[in-house]
Amino acid sequence: MAHAVTPPATSPPSTGAAGGAAVARRLEGAPFATEIRERVAADSAAYAQEHGHPPGLAVVVCGRSAPSMVYLERILKACAQVGIDASFVDVPGETPADQERELAAAILRLNDDPKVNGIIVQMPLPEGVRLRTVVDTIDPLKDIDGIHPLNAGLLRAGYEGFIPATAHAALEMVHRSGVELKGADAVVIGRSPVVGMPLAFMLTKENATVTVCHSKTRDLPAKVRMADVLVVAAGHPRLVTGDMLKPGAVVVDVGINVVDGKIVGDVDFESAEQVASAITPVPGGVGPLTSALLLSHLMRAAQRQMDAEPHRHMGRDLPNDQTEAAAARQDSRR
Ligand code: NAP
Repeated sequence: MAHAVTPPATSPPSTGAAGGAAVARRLEGAPFATEIRERVAADSAAYAQEHGHPPGLAVVVCGRSAPSMVYLERILKACAQVGIDASFVDVPGETPADQERELAAAILRLNDDPKVNGIIVQMPLPEGVRLRTVVDTIDPLKDIDGIHPLNAGLLRAGYEGFIPATAHAALEMVHRSGVELKGADAVVIGRSPVVGMPLAFMLTKENATVTVCHSKTRDLPAKVRMADVLVVAAGHPRLVTGDMLKPGAVVVDVGINVVDGKIVGDVDFESAEQVASAITPVPGGVGPLTSALLLSHLMRAAQRQMDAEPHRHMGRDLPNDQTEAAAARQDSRR
């Protein structure tokens, strides 16, 4: 049985194409993103007042591609609207080896810049440039998109770290649907470190029973049919269709695909909305919330850097409560 859904502030259900059964509520990202941006604008104004300069975000782009430049422009505009000083760092280099060296040097410079509170590195990296270059250099306290293993580890160990903004946005959409997660069957399609896996941990933490599916999963439709909550992050258009869903399921579509020049998700929206109780559209669902949450992570980074400053040389840059908690756990195991 699907779990009870209480209606949040989203588009109301409409009647089906035949004027009959109700179709799913659309979980639009924009209204939630606006709320988050308003909060960020207030926090960033308070930060600027206290520090004499605005909070700072650095966006590192290694190898320009058309999509990364579009994304960059969006981020810079969003930052300007909420009073965040965003800078763009263009990493030069002719060969992957040059690019890796320049990328590491740029990140190390940004780590040491007190006016930069958060660093994001535009993905995907050019061919031959290893993600390891970023992971080995980025300060975990400035890693606002949660790619450093320390932040991934904090999430798994149940502490507050930075989680990837996309996974955060997908979870937020699940919350905004109003579904009761305790005891719910949640199915996550995709096991990447930026979306599927962090989501699976977070949903488990909230007492859902989670099944993680991937490209080798047998009988995907049978797994999907179990889901009270379904999150799809596979990068595969029309992977999920309405006939696979449990009636009343909450469906969050993270996928972004271009088909015939149009952006579509991983879920066939038209058939799914006839069966689900709530569903995120693509575009307009998880995407707008992801960029707003990234800005809220930046403000949290600014706060955590202030809190952690006296302890930065004591225990791999963890805020003191976390180092103490980790030490206490180790002691209790001895
Ligand atoms: P990824 O690293 O390519 O991972 C895709 C995952 O889906 C993998 O675990 C893969 O399985 C699984 N998968 C692929 N085809 C499958 C199939 N036919 N059946 C079941 N599982 C399948 O991608 P990602 O970075 O997690 O991104 C996922 C999607 O989200 C992409 O469309 C991406 O563009 C989109 N995205 C959206 C946002 C946003 O803001 N909305 C942000 C980031 C990414 P294996 O592990 O076995 O390969």
